[in-house]
Amino acid sequence: MARDPRYDILFEPVPIGPVTLRNRFYQVPHCNGLGGTLPRGHAGLREAKAEGGWAAVCTEILSIHPTSDSWPFAQVKLWDEDDVKSLSILTDAVHRHGALAGAELAHGGFAVANRYTREVPLAPSPIPNRRDPWQARAMDRADIRAYRGWHRRAALQAKKAGFDIVYVYAADDLELLQFFLSRRRNHRSDEYGGSLENRARLLREVIEDTKDAVGDTCAVAVRYTIDEFSGPDGLVSDAEGADILEMLGELPDLWDIKVSPWAEDSLTSRFGPEGYQEPFVARAKKLTSKPVVGVGRFTSPDAMVSQIRRGIIDIIGAARPSIADPFLPKKIAEGRPEDIRECIGCNICVSGYTSGAVIRCTQNPTMGEEWRRGWHPERVPAKKSDATILVVGAGPAGLECAMMLGKRGYRVHLAEAARELGGRVAREAKLPGLAAWARVRDHRLQQLEKLDTVELFPESRLSADDILALAPLHVVLATGAHWRRDGLGRNNHKAVEGLGGTTTFTPDDIMDGRLPSAGPVVLFDDDDFYLGGVLAEHLRRQGLEVALVTPAALASSWTVFTLEQEKIQKRLLELGIAIHANLNLTRVANGSVELACMFTGARRTLAAAAVVPVTARLPDEKLYDALHALGDAPAKAGIRSVTRIGDCYSPGAIVHAVYSGHRYARELDEPPSDDLPFKTEPIVLD
Ligand code: ADP
Ligand code: SF4
Repeated sequence: MARDPRYDILFEPVPIGPVTLRNRFYQVPHCNGLGGTLPRGHAGLREAKAEGGWAAVCTEILSIHPTSDSWPFAQVKLWDEDDVKSLSILTDAVHRHGALAGAELAHGGFAVANRYTREVPLAPSPIPNRRDPWQARAMDRADIRAYRGWHRRAALQAKKAGFDIVYVYAADDLELLQFFLSRRRNHRSDEYGGSLENRARLLREVIEDTKDAVGDTCAVAVRYTIDEFSGPDGLVSDAEGADILEMLGELPDLWDIKVSPWAEDSLTSRFGPEGYQEPFVARAKKLTSKPVVGVGRFTSPDAMVSQIRRGIIDIIGAARPSIADPFLPKKIAEGRPEDIRECIGCNICVSGYTSGAVIRCTQNPTMGEEWRRGWHPERVPAKKSDATILVVGAGPAGLECAMMLGKRGYRVHLAEAARELGGRVAREAKLPGLAAWARVRDHRLQQLEKLDTVELFPESRLSADDILALAPLHVVLATGAHWRRDGLGRNNHKAVEGLGGTTTFTPDDIMDGRLPSAGPVVLFDDDDFYLGGVLAEHLRRQGLEVALVTPAALASSWTVFTLEQEKIQKRLLELGIAIHANLNLTRVANGSVELACMFTGARRTLAAAAVVPVTARLPDEKLYDALHALGDAPAKAGIRSVTRIGDCYSPGAIVHAVYSGHRYARELDEPPSDDLPFKTEPIVLD
């Protein structure tokens, strides 16, 4: 299909210094947990974006020197010739598809602890390390000279590795150059401290050094935090944040503007809409004539065009939208924007890196699997038989499985008990702040509509006998899971006394609209992820008095990995929800609950007219058991396999269900193998 002319502006080339972006789609630097130890995997991930039409594809942080070591978090380094070689794999892969490759040179200053290299962390002034209980050393003039030398050398190495864009990085509250800019971190009294001009001196020098070193063939980009969200002592977009941009505006070839810290920059959909950075970034273009890149979880081409036409930004920056759909630009170019697999803003991708793992994406199960499993984000191998497959359950696992099987060309019947398709996402998306999660369902339903291989059967609760009568070659059970009523979970290894009666409400009850008629409600969150906090918010918004009890030290404690925890705790407190931390639920009595301190075991009681245990789930495997109870009847009827996927196999997050459905569809009719399920990166031993 032809491209909608409204979107032509998105495909205009943009010159940046000595190179030219082929369009306005720019994959800004983002971490992925593959790091320097998995260079082929990393190259495969970036290559998918280049093939998908992004004009520039950038790396994450590349450490320029051993004094910047973020171990144990995955890091890519640019310290020696081996690193140049390993990054060349990435630039070659990106260039194969006509995109420019960008290198984010970085020095973490006091934000890194150098646990691997054992170098003393560096900072403008002697301040405590970001996380570890030791300090960073104030840089003297010799250190500053040395740092400039490391940066220049790394820029030259980046050029040698084939990069077209070289970054000077002063953003994310992670970077030495930003620390020099901000009064919060820079307490110096020499020519690098004090006045704004002095604090900006090092950034100016490093931009000039980099232009001088590589500016003949590479564009020099500055990644810059215009607002630090830290009050008047930090960079503020209508004060010093803008003043610095005004001072240095014409020096680089490109400004990549954003807010920090990371939790504000990678805001989840629970806390902000698409384009949320506009109020901060809006001033940038008035302060420089150079092209400005901005981010904001952009997935709608109309929102992108609007930002460009209104003069907010010139180039559409994206990390998460390019993770959820590496082919986003191509889909707009080909006149099929409805095919975009839109990011849902859940930050599961971020949680990979922050928890020390490789990147995962709820919407895109191929992310991080491009090289090791050979999974392409858009192409899927054709079917290898004429099998008909019955998928039971249209939650994220069943929908993904049916869609992928259908795309392979298999004949699929997808049966769902409920009238509404989507399973858990359909229900959870109705809770406060989670509306965007419905995109997990909507994308798959939209794709299924285009497939004549898949037939949908809503309002069709199947029994084992029904399945026997249908007799498909393969049966896939994606029947989900339900929340326990008895309190058994991470901290209680048997049922909690008193739970399970009429005053107990499970998350499923609440999502089905069965709410306590009166408070106080005690929500016991032993799950630690988002749902406990979301349900507490939901109940409070219905006018009920709510207390959240958790054995953890923080509400929704696992959400530190999705960068949401502080925002969640703030929201709960502001709503008037009492948070009782470090307490286990030990007994439910009439009108109260008994709680035990996690450290001393000391008991206390709390008034409770109703209790909501958010502890653990049980797979809905009745159908699986019933099919097994039929003995050899299914085989005799011609059913060759019965497989559980998603929450029915093992309750997990939505990302796991989607992956599980995808994997089944990819692997159907593949010969069983005893080999490793994926390629591992060879390590050369000499
Ligand atoms: P997952 O996250 O693994 O996809 P969900 O709980 O989101 O699991 O979805 C499971 C879906 O399966 C629900 O929509 C549920 O209504 C449906 N389901 C469960 N049992 C049956 C059944 N016997 N026949 C048809 N659909 C079923
Ligand atoms: Fe978007 Fe979630 Fe995928 Fe991250 S994991 S790219 S936030 S859908």
